[in-house]
Amino acid sequence: VQSKLPAVGTTIFTVMSALAAEKGAVNLGQGFPDFDCDPRLVGAVTQAMTRGLNQYPPMTGVPALREAVAAKVQALHGHRYDAGSEITITAGATQAIITAILAVVRPGDEVIVLEPCYDSYVPNIELAGGTVVRVPLTPGSFRPDFDRIAAAINGRTRALLINTPHNPSATVWTREEMLRLSQLLAPTEVLLISDEVYEHMVFDGQAHQSAARFPGLAARAFIVSSFGKTYHVTGWKVGFVAAPAPLSAEFRKVHQFNVFTVNTPVQHGLAQYMADPAPYRDLPAFYQRKRDLFREGLARTRLRLLPSEGSYFQCVDISGVSDLAEDAFCQWLTSEIGVAAIPLSAFYGDGFDQRVVRFCFAKKDETLRLALERLARL
Ligand code: PMP
Ligand code: GLN
Repeated sequence: VQSKLPAVGTTIFTVMSALAAEKGAVNLGQGFPDFDCDPRLVGAVTQAMTRGLNQYPPMTGVPALREAVAAKVQALHGHRYDAGSEITITAGATQAIITAILAVVRPGDEVIVLEPCYDSYVPNIELAGGTVVRVPLTPGSFRPDFDRIAAAINGRTRALLINTPHNPSATVWTREEMLRLSQLLAPTEVLLISDEVYEHMVFDGQAHQSAARFPGLAARAFIVSSFGKTYHVTGWKVGFVAAPAPLSAEFRKVHQFNVFTVNTPVQHGLAQYMADPAPYRDLPAFYQRKRDLFREGLARTRLRLLPSEGSYFQCVDISGVSDLAEDAFCQWLTSEIGVAAIPLSAFYGDGFDQRVVRFCFAKKDETLRLALERLARL
């Protein structure tokens, strides 16, 4: 068949998880916890099933869950979304992002991505017939380069995709950076797709700067998040998008024919569970401790640590350890050392190799310790 995505193979996360399983390696590649979620959350979902909440919910999501999301966003960021017309529950952030792109990107529209970026963005834009405009984050620091973003914007620019906290670099945009973005976009009609799936994993006392906090951004943004990350249930594939009513209306036109709606009992369970803010309030400390445990061990190897300000990722420079390209290094590390990682080159359209790989530390302490024991051999 003539492929619509000739350059696309199987995603790196699937490839590396399969190799990790085959080799019996500790899987610090694909980002997902190896520990279970709160049993209270399982209880809430089970209860919803037992109560017979097993048929289609409303197309836009269970009202109680949309209300819980709106209340949380207001409490944390001071912006009130209307739960009826501005919040939509999605099958994970992945579906939210592709649906937002399909809803607004027309053939020939330009869409800016900041590289390295999550691997679904570029194929999503291509499927919508858009033209991908790749702008690098600042080499080395991975911070946004506003001069280059400004230079990439023109009359054909339909949207910009950002992601904070950032996968894979683990940077977190500051308030100043978000303000700068707001100023830059103010004279334009460029829409913003703000991928905030790691919103509750921000370390060292820094705050997550949601686009919802900046009126000039919120007015043009699809804000995307994922319950999978926040509540340690990546396999449930439930997320949400928050966007002003006119943007949400366009989003829903596509969503209704894309998935129509999302798992009913999980939505009810999440709505009930979200009444307690403790699980997401405690998440930064929970992951910061794991980050520190992991970094302390890595600091004793010849891998060079990069900062990890947020998300559940830790990047390391491999140049002191190996001459292999990132990709080959990750294969070797998985097969020979028994620890899986993800090459950063997978987050670049041209496979740019800067000798940096990503580990996920959303793992039991014992898993991290086992990985560190093996990495100590490097
Ligand atoms: N965006 C980013 C930056 C991610 O890391 C992920 C998770 N891999 C997603 C989107 C997709 O999230 P979900 O599993 O909810 O579809
Ligand atoms: N978001 C996760 C990561 O970056 C994995 C998601 C996936 O497997 N598609 O590792």
